[in-house]
Amino acid sequence: MKNPQLRVLISDVEIQKRVTEIGAQITKDYKEGDLILIGILKGAFIFVADLARAIHRPVRMDFMGISSYGKGTSSSGEVRVTKDLDTSIEGANIIIVEDIVDTGVTLSYLIGLLHNRKPRSIRIAALLDKPERRLRPVQAAYTGFSIPDEFVVGYGLDYAEDYRGLKDICVLSEGEES
Ligand code: 5GP
Repeated sequence: MKNPQLRVLISDVEIQKRVTEIGAQITKDYKEGDLILIGILKGAFIFVADLARAIHRPVRMDFMGISSYGKGTSSSGEVRVTKDLDTSIEGANIIIVEDIVDTGVTLSYLIGLLHNRKPRSIRIAALLDKPERRLRPVQAAYTGFSIPDEFVVGYGLDYAEDYRGLKDICVLSEGEES
């Protein structure tokens, strides 16, 4: 990308406030039973770490690696499991923790896959939602923020592996050449 420009879309203060609210809601919603947070690598790694600490009841964690975007900013439409769960989810409540629901292709594929493993319940917690882009009818039970159709980085999200460590969520665009 030539001369990349970053503009803050959601500040770290806003993110932390919303994650705290979602954690409180999940604490209320799950009074009993095992609860496993399934973080989708790599983009959700910071969200899932913050969310786990905002939930005030025991949670277990597992991770799945999914690749759907390759190295660019547009989807290839292909979903590939690059890392599977380490533990059984049979009989447990699971929350799939995802960075963004965009077309919904990744999550609809994942829900089908995990449903076959007989968990007690499956819900989605997505930090960001781009509703305009939806191709599959995926509905998150917990959503951080709805955002317009712009490419964002930071708070775990990358562009070609860069920017994951930014505290804010920023829009990345190509600037004028100087
Ligand atoms: P979907 O299958 O819903 O189209 O794609 C979801 C995945 O695409 C997300 O988990 C994320 O990895 C990637 N993605 C979608 N929009 C963006 C974006 O604006 N920025 C980044 N960094 N990744 C995105």
